[in-house]
Amino acid sequence: MERFDTMLEAAELAATLCGSWSFATSNDRYDVKGLLVLAETSDNENPIDEDSFYAVSPAGAIGLCEDGEDIDWLFLSDNAPNEDLPLTYGSVPQMKFCPKCGLPVVSGSQFCGKCGCELK
Ligand SMILES: [Zn+2]
Repeated sequence: MERFDTMLEAAELAATLCGSWSFATSNDRYDVKGLLVLAETSDNENPIDEDSFYAVSPAGAIGLCEDGEDIDWLFLSDNAPNEDLPLTYGSVPQMKFCPKCGLPVVSGSQFCGKCGCELK
């Protein structure tokens, strides 16, 4: 997934993926024009801080990630209303391998569970 600093950039990409959206927490619906207007207004009135970014799903849903981790999906794509949206930006597990014995290790662990080698 790409990251966007403004909702307008995210909306412009999403507009190439689908043609209408529903707002996640209400029944409001948006077409391309409505989404772009809303995005521009949001960027002007409520810009996100530098730790935050917008993400666009493969079907065109738009989410806001405020801490680099959890994604708040704001606009759901009408193309795929039941799309399986990731809840965190880093939710695709990163497989790592022990540099000493070569076995796969759990991401984030400090030592290899097999040989005890320290992982960096
Ligand atoms: Zn090891």
